[in-house]
Parts: sequence; C-alpha cells; structure tokens
Amino acid sequence: MLDELRASFINGRFAPANGPARELINPADERSFHAVSDGTAREVNAAAEGAAGAWESGWRDLPPGDRSELIHRLANLIEANAPQLAEFDSRSMGKPLAAARGEVLMGARTFRYYAGALLMPHGDTIPVARGGFDFTLRQPLGVIACIVPWNFPFAIACWKIAPALAAGNSVLLKPASFSPLGALVLGKLAIEAGLPAGALQIICSRGSEVGDLMITHPLVRKVSFTGSTDVGRHVMELAARDFTRVSLELGGKSANVVFADADLSKAAESAPGAVFDNTGQDCCARSRILVERPAYEEFLERFIEATRKLRVGDPADEATDLGPLVSRAQRESVERFITDARTSGRVIAYGGDRPRAPGYYLNPTIITGAKTGDRCWREEIFGPVACVRPFDDESELIREVNDSPYGLSGSIWTRDISRALRVARRIESGVLSINCHNSVHVEAPFGGFKHSGLGRDLGLAALEACTELKNIYIAP
Ligand code: NAD
Repeated sequence: MLDELRASFINGRFAPANGPARELINPADERSFHAVSDGTAREVNAAAEGAAGAWESGWRDLPPGDRSELIHRLANLIEANAPQLAEFDSRSMGKPLAAARGEVLMGARTFRYYAGALLMPHGDTIPVARGGFDFTLRQPLGVIACIVPWNFPFAIACWKIAPALAAGNSVLLKPASFSPLGALVLGKLAIEAGLPAGALQIICSRGSEVGDLMITHPLVRKVSFTGSTDVGRHVMELAARDFTRVSLELGGKSANVVFADADLSKAAESAPGAVFDNTGQDCCARSRILVERPAYEEFLERFIEATRKLRVGDPADEATDLGPLVSRAQRESVERFITDARTSGRVIAYGGDRPRAPGYYLNPTIITGAKTGDRCWREEIFGPVACVRPFDDESELIREVNDSPYGLSGSIWTRDISRALRVARRIESGVLSINCHNSVHVEAPFGGFKHSGLGRDLGLAALEACTELKNIYIAP
C-alpha cells in the first residue's frame, strides 16, 4: 500500500506527485523510509472546488440514514486496516505500536459514534409572540478545512473529519508534514466506503506553504484546527477577515493535583503515564505536579520508582512504553528546557539524558524545585519532562494552577469528594479528571479555556459546531 501514498488525494484519486518530495524520517533510526510530494496552491484550489462540487451535487442532501450507513462502512474499513495504519503512524512519528493501534481504533469509534449521533439532532419549534409557526433547522456549512498535528495524527484527524462529514459537510484535511500516511489511507477508504469523490480531500504539504490559502479560500466556511497556540492565533487572525468560523484546539500545561488524603500509590503509579505517554508529546500532559506538603516526599519517591519502570525503546517492540521524540529539532527543543532548569539550580531528580542512539530518544525527566516563573514550569515543553512541587493550602493551589495562559486538562486526587468538586469548579480548564487521568472520551466535549483554544472537539458539541442554525417563520 505504501507505494501509492505519494501525493495528495483529491477528487477520489491520488494527485500526480509534481511538488517537491518530502522525506519521511523514522525517528527510531533517523533514516528516511518514504517520500510524499508537497501539494501547492493548484492542489488546494482543485481540492476546494471538488469538495464544494461534491457537497452541492448531492452530499448535502443525502438522507441522514444513508449518510449514517456510509460512515459506518468507513468505520468498518478503518478497523480492517488498523494494523497497517498503526504501523504507518508508528514509523512516522515514533509512537509505540500498541498505542498507535489503540489510536486507530479510537478513530474508528469516532466515526461510529457520529454515524449514530447524526440521526439525533432536532430543531426547536418556538411559540413566537405574533403567532404563526416558527422552527429551527441545523444545516451543514459547506466546505470545512481541517488542519491537524503529528502527535495523535490519526485520532485527531478522525475527531475533525467524522463530525464534519456526519453533519453533511465536505472536508479538506491537511495532515502534519511528519505524518501524512494515515490521512492518505483514510481518503482512499472513504471512496471504498462509498462516499462521493471530493467529500474528503487530503492535501499534503507544510502548513506554512498552503495553510494561509486553505484558511482564506473563498469556498472554505470553517477552519477546524489543532496545533500550537502560536499557529492557532495566526489561523484565527486570518479567518477573522472573512468571518470564517473557527474551532481551535491548542497547547496546554496541565496540572496534576495530589492532596495528602489521596490514594497515594494509585496517584503516583499513574502519574508517569499522565505526563510521559506519547513521550510527553501530548497536549493534555499533566506536566505540573502539585502535591500537598505532608504527602510530597512519599509521592515523589513513588513517582520516581514508577518512572524507572518505563521502558524507553524501539516503537516496534510491543514491550516499549516510550518511543523517540518526533524529530531531532523536537528533542533539542526539549533538552533546552532541561539545560535551562539545570543551570538555574533546579534539581533533575530523574532522567535528563539520552538513553540510546540512533533515534531521537530522551529519558523521562523529573525536575524538582521549579519556581512559578521558570520556563519549565510555565511553558508547554511537549516532551517527557515533569516538574513536581509541594503546596500548602487550597487557595494557594488554585491560584498556582490558574496562573497559566493555558487551560486544557488536569487531574485532582483526593478522597474528599466535596473538595474535589470545589477545586474542579475553580480550576480554569476545559477538561478535568478526578482520581484518574482519563480526559478524552469520544462521546464527551473536549477542548480548552484561555490560550488552549476555542470551541470543542468530540461529543454532540462538535457535531453542532459543524452546522449553522437557521430559523424559519411561517405566517399564520
Ligand atoms: P503546529 O501548530 O506546528 O502544527 C499543527 C498543524 O498546523 C500542522 O498540520 C502544520 O502543518 C499546520 N500549520 C503550521 N503552520 C501553519 C500556518 N501558518 N497556517 C496553517 N497551518 C499551519 O503544531 P504541532 O507541532 O504539529 O503540534 C503540537 C502542538 O499541538 C502542541 O502545542 C500541542 O499542545 C497542540 N495540540 C493540541 C491538542 C488539543 O486538542 N488541544 C491536541 C494535540 C496537539
């Protein structure tokens, strides 16, 4: 299959590989294993026109039951191709195979959920003062441009595409340049499932090359973006010119709060997964760990012990917990945070070094003694680095957690349910988990406060956000 995945997928077939070829480097061995040609303005225009054509010539008016059936079929095809899809993502960005398989299956579940959910929305009938009959309709927007990152390349592409298609829109998807393969397969599977050519277009290229054109294209009615806060700001500024709708899922610097009355062994043993999974390249990573002072020393010791058990290694090995970082540049960026902490006198309580070569590997790293103004405490590192600090009282804790431009995710550990709810209400964050770290559910809304974004992926909220609300009034 790999051989045909060489360029964008437009109007039901692979485009000619005319643009400059971009090498895909396996971060586990630093060697090129494939090349995909970059699309240009020509591909973006052809994709947008094809998507609008597919939408107008039937996709928008397909009865919901038929649309649901096609989307179910696409979910079946994703499941049938899961091993291959997982291998592509694992090789492209270093994710351990087992995790990559889980991500692909989550993608299939996302399509299945929206295949059902699209049958649920209904409008209102409103008793307006002047009589007559007033009712609302939810209608698709048209063409939605979806721009996604490399860290969860398959799942996040599905989070965007599934509600958009389910609501009756066409989609232009731009995967990150590190990880285009799963998206290209998805384009092909959509045709096999029976979706019309053009309903799902895949444009491979760098965001800096085609991003602006996609966002400002006159046929694009909404941009659904997941990525860094800086690029998100750029997307929003450009989209504002034409009042193009946006949904933005951006960076995070989430807290893991552990009160002294918590189940300390559970909290400490699950803490490494909450920050180091995906080698820390996770917008939800709980990288600021705050522990109530009486439990601090014991938690830290147990957390380090649990971290020591993580196996850093080849993503193709089923026993691996942490693969390499996505690229040389990403590892260097993470290492700068560690060097900065070290030279400022903070303690590297675990890790901080490279375990093996070749490959962009880095050991999980635990820093203690970080101050509120430190870069490692304030900024999103996007690598396997956690800072742990003690706190003394609840109001100080809430001030500290909220003293961040971000507000995406977080966890609270305590046996006192009243305190858990009180603290959860005060933390400025779109998603929180209590006595666990599960913050992503296909059926529930996911997204951030403040600089972590605008709008929500997943759940019924995302389906609704792929529609316009229309009100119709009939005279008495
Ligand atoms: P990024 O912002 O560099 O890139 C994201 C996507 O935007 C890529 O497809 C990229 O090609 C594209 N892009 C880059 N420049 C663009 C431009 N000028 N115009 C349009 N598109 C452009 O982010 P990344 O490095 O791929 O991903 C890491 C970031 O994503 C982190 O900040 C992480 O927190 C965030 N993220 C957020 C969520 C969430 O749901 N909140 C989920 C995953 C990742």
